Amino acid sequence: MVNDTIIIGGGPAGLKAASSLNSLGHKVTIIEKTEVLGGQIKNWYKLFPDFSDSYSVVSNLTNLSSDISINLNSTVLDVQKENGHFNLLLSNNKRLKGKSILLTTGFSLYDASKKEEYGYGFYKGVLTNKDLEHNFINNPKFIDIDNPTVVFIHCVGSRDHKAGNMHCSKVCCVTAVKQAIEIKQFYPKANVYCFYMDLRMFGRGYEDLYLKAQSEYNIKFIRGRVSEISETFENKIVVKAEDTLSSKPIKLTSDYAILMSGIVPTKENFPLFNKLSVSINSSDGFSNEPSFNNLLNLKTEGVFTAGCINGPKTIPEVLTESDSVALSIHSFLSR
Ligand code: SF4
Repeated sequence: MVNDTIIIGGGPAGLKAASSLNSLGHKVTIIEKTEVLGGQIKNWYKLFPDFSDSYSVVSNLTNLSSDISINLNSTVLDVQKENGHFNLLLSNNKRLKGKSILLTTGFSLYDASKKEEYGYGFYKGVLTNKDLEHNFINNPKFIDIDNPTVVFIHCVGSRDHKAGNMHCSKVCCVTAVKQAIEIKQFYPKANVYCFYMDLRMFGRGYEDLYLKAQSEYNIKFIRGRVSEISETFENKIVVKAEDTLSSKPIKLTSDYAILMSGIVPTKENFPLFNKLSVSINSSDGFSNEPSFNNLLNLKTEGVFTAGCINGPKTIPEVLTESDSVALSIHSFLSR
């Protein structure tokens, strides 16, 4: 059977587009490389800015019609275009045929261990944003004192020439504010600091959250880039930075440092993008494909992209774009 659309990636973008295309009467198949649908959002405890439960968002998105075929633990080994159809060979030797392809392969989080000066992987008290969400889900009382000092470090692997990523990851400022508040909710006596370069609170309700973090939770925001993290003999974490507003050096001893790892492209997907002539932006490594113009781009006719494959986005932005791309695919299939 020929699918109308084969969706590669079972995160929020792929799931939303699958539902929309299915409700428009199209035969859809999803290919997901892991053993479950939901993408990276399922690793998150609550979502900004309203602390909605990510589990319910994932449950809604994965509540799919039985008409939609799903291939878990599957990757695309090869893809060829013949007679206007795409022929795919999957890692489980299954073959699929489709009239169009939607790439929703998402993003990766920057590997914080590459920032050697922060000691991630060496110091127990240095965690990433994702590690902290994992702890919130599995053991929110993971700190064994009731008044810990916790320092959040923004822009880890983003806006960083040394890391090779000059782009802003867009969502980590507000994520840091959300997580800082959550630390205060679990540990009301905690001392919490955020070291930032700029605070990018662009979305509705984000600025309110930032103001609330200061006024209700007494979270301290320090404009400064952290130069080094080290550990004392007592396993305390020492954060060295410069306050760029006062130009004074700062040395802060804490129990935990949380690295806000940025959003980066998933390079393992580049061979597939090449096969489908999806161009990669030479500056940030995300897809160059303008989703809304795909119909005009004959080079990649029948190939569409949505979600964070095209750059950092919030979940509402991903869902809106996925709906829009689903309409573009519908229009393409109806020609
Ligand atoms: S959103 Fe904030 S923390 Fe993230 S890269 Fe942009 S400025 Fe840095």
